[in-house]
Amino acid sequence: MKPLLHLSLAGLLALLAAGPSPAARGVTAPGQQDAGPGRAAPAAEEPPADGEAWPTTPLQQLRLRDGGLLWGWIESHTSERVGFLRLDNGGRVQLPWSWLDPRQESELKTIFGYVDLTSQEPMVLAARVQTASGDEFVGVIQNRNDQYLELKSANGLLQLPLAQLRGTIVEELVPARQIYTRDELYDDQLSLHLPALSGPDVDPAVKAEAHFELARFCESVFDFRRALVHYQAIAEADPTFTHPDLAASLERAGRRAAAQEQADVLEEIDRLRGRQLYPAAVELMQRFATLYPDSPLTQDFVRLQASVIADRERDLLEQAELRWHYWVSKLARERAKDDQFESVLAWLEEGCSADVLAAVTADLTRYRADISETEVRELWNQRAATRLRRASYGVGTWLIGRDAARAGVEGEEEQAPASDPRSEERKQLEERIQRYLRNQQVAGAGGNRDSDSEADPQAYWEATGVASRHAWIVAHYVENSGDMRVTRAAIRPCRECGGTGFLEIVTAGDGQGTRLFECPLCHGVAVVRRVSYR
Ligand SMILES: [Zn+2]
Repeated sequence: MKPLLHLSLAGLLALLAAGPSPAARGVTAPGQQDAGPGRAAPAAEEPPADGEAWPTTPLQQLRLRDGGLLWGWIESHTSERVGFLRLDNGGRVQLPWSWLDPRQESELKTIFGYVDLTSQEPMVLAARVQTASGDEFVGVIQNRNDQYLELKSANGLLQLPLAQLRGTIVEELVPARQIYTRDELYDDQLSLHLPALSGPDVDPAVKAEAHFELARFCESVFDFRRALVHYQAIAEADPTFTHPDLAASLERAGRRAAAQEQADVLEEIDRLRGRQLYPAAVELMQRFATLYPDSPLTQDFVRLQASVIADRERDLLEQAELRWHYWVSKLARERAKDDQFESVLAWLEEGCSADVLAAVTADLTRYRADISETEVRELWNQRAATRLRRASYGVGTWLIGRDAARAGVEGEEEQAPASDPRSEERKQLEERIQRYLRNQQVAGAGGNRDSDSEADPQAYWEATGVASRHAWIVAHYVENSGDMRVTRAAIRPCRECGGTGFLEIVTAGDGQGTRLFECPLCHGVAVVRRVSYR
């Protein structure tokens, strides 16, 4: 279930209004980071194993994901791991970030500048709304009356007529910048700190703290120019203000502010990803790599690129399955309008599977422009197939013949209980049917039965409604194309003849005589076949 954020659809009323305060709507700024890993530690007693002196920098404590603790010094770091000198045995270890307690991992990555652009974003609770035409919109519900729903997002205010909505409205957390513009987010956050920033008698330390928090917030919403302005204002407000992360933050914000244009491109890529516009996102990623080969944001870029591709592959897999079922049904419905049974059958045997594949492939180019039919079939074969579906030949079961109608069915339909007074009657009827069939074989010697004129597939097809034809086509495709996994086949007795295949009539005129004739509904096949499949 993936979001389709068509928030800029033409024709929909979009007013870029100053929305209500994001804070009032529940924007939460990322948690204020601690001063860093604990510094209070036992004094070093022995020098490192190789005889060199212990580092003079403060001792650090690493908290590991499994609950363990390591004392020592971080000597080096990359985006992948931390080089650590251990106090307990003087050994040097390369620890992958993932071995660290997640909170400390995040703290240290922030200090070292390995911040994932998308990892500490402010989030808001938003509503996901579906329309009858299959579009999805995500936003914060601003207003609703008996006519329409007003949905606010960063692209403006959207009025959705209630009559167009389908399904239930789902609430979920989404990045705040999907709902509010950068200016809206900043103005809102600024208003919270305004008393501390502008009052004449404000304590310089309080003022500096406000700048620090604002700078942090701006960073979290990709607003690096403003982040830098506030980091720089700290020293001006209070030269004595200290924070263990200040120097690193100032350096990082400066680097990113200088690359604000690039950061904006990354944000745009991320936004395209959020709307599942993968080809556009990929194109922009290629442009980014060409335009900024030495970008200071390369690490952010590489991380974003990997996550865009991963999302795309996940959506492709999901969509391949959804679109496949969609097209089977749609093409079957189109084909059901064909009055010529032979041509429907020919299509089922030769063109159907290929047509479905071609249609699904065309759909999936929306996710990856150059996707091939081979790849789509591969995705289809890997589908989750969690939902069990059903198809039935209905009254038209006889068209596939008596044997195919019962193929793979475990246990015939249940017999009427012996105590049922009708069972004796039924037994007699079955005996007569057997006699009748033997006579038919002798007389016909090759299937030239007198009922053939009535059991004309073309005549049946012409007399059958499009809905029944549609169901029949789907059932035939499911069982014969090899595209589906049939999990179960079942039959139920024909409602006309009760599962015997024949009816009995009293012949008029000469006394007690009765005559058997083939059931006109099931043409002797006696059952309706349905299959379950994935
Ligand atoms: Zn019947």
